[in-house]
Amino acid sequence: MFSPAYLDHNATSPLRPVAFDAMAEALRAGGNPSSVHGAGRKARAFVDKARRQVAALVGARPGDTIFTSGATEANNLAVLGSGRRRILVTAVEHDSVRRAAPQAEVLPVNAEGVLDLAALEAALAASAEPALVAVMLANNETGVVQPIGDVVRLARAAGALVHCDAVQGVGKVPVDFQALGVDYLSLSAHKFGGPTGVGALIVRSGVPLSPDRLGGGQEANRRAGTENVGGIAGFGAAAAEAMTPLNVTGLRDELEIAIAKIDSRIRFYGAGATRLGTTSCFAMPGVTAETQVMALDLAGVCISAGAACSSGKVQRSPVLTAMGVPADEAASAIRVSLGWNSHRADIERLIEAWQSLYIRVTKSDISHTSSRARAA
Ligand code: PMP
Repeated sequence: MFSPAYLDHNATSPLRPVAFDAMAEALRAGGNPSSVHGAGRKARAFVDKARRQVAALVGARPGDTIFTSGATEANNLAVLGSGRRRILVTAVEHDSVRRAAPQAEVLPVNAEGVLDLAALEAALAASAEPALVAVMLANNETGVVQPIGDVVRLARAAGALVHCDAVQGVGKVPVDFQALGVDYLSLSAHKFGGPTGVGALIVRSGVPLSPDRLGGGQEANRRAGTENVGGIAGFGAAAAEAMTPLNVTGLRDELEIAIAKIDSRIRFYGAGATRLGTTSCFAMPGVTAETQVMALDLAGVCISAGAACSSGKVQRSPVLTAMGVPADEAASAIRVSLGWNSHRADIERLIEAWQSLYIRVTKSDISHTSSRARAA
């Protein structure tokens, strides 16, 4: 059977077999973790085990780990539940942070997509009202990593709390909640081989958090609703496997070298900053991202145009816009993202398909230009 070269891990990583098996086992067992009978206790054991596995992956305490329906919910919960009315966010945060705090003050990033720390310091100093600062660990479009240690240092000095959306970093680079020193940390199972629809918010003990839904006392009264036992079990199994670090940076670099050989003008967004070794974002001059995604899909290669989370809508990337990339160039930017099951063959297929589109387009450009030249 022909299987596509799947290079869209920042959207969703394929489910790891261990996660599938753990889910099947938990779903087969059934039961409600809040029931006191044997079936309930069995379900509770799946949730408790997963809580330990997920907490271990990010150096957190199991008791500080709240299961949610994904990182969108985790981000909403932190941003809306911190009790802070003054919120500072970077211009490259995910919509699940930006839209949860439409009143937030937006901090600029530089041309490489890195937060302007002087702007953060000035914003913190501009008001005595204690703030929540929301800064992501790594960007979903470019893979650019933010200086969280500096953010925490500046925020602490100003009495601010820090939320970190670590969705794109977890399972790809080591993430340690204690060492980062943030107050809230969001993660999502499906970005590193767990199932979709499950995530977690880690909350430092003693830090405020008001729940955003009311109901039963699940998750120590911090997130009401019967736990998604199957999904949580899969999340835990994926987390345990993700303790083994990924090593695909070499493949990403080979891809960029090959693309630069095809056209030396091509720029890799954020390449001047610290980036995840799993992500590459670049544009084919004059060809929309949509055209590239479709052409590559026909060639059996899955990649995405900017952020895939906006329901298949291809829209101008706010991330590249914030980095000062001109609108027409941003409209031609694609994102290639690798993960736990990426191989050299995937990259080779991508390079071949991308190059053949490039040649088709540049040849037709040349023939258009020469026919225009003849007509003139
Ligand atoms: N934050 C970032 C940086 C993301 O990339 C995503 C997923 N696109 C989310 C949050 C939302 O995660 P989920 O799909 O689990 O709601």
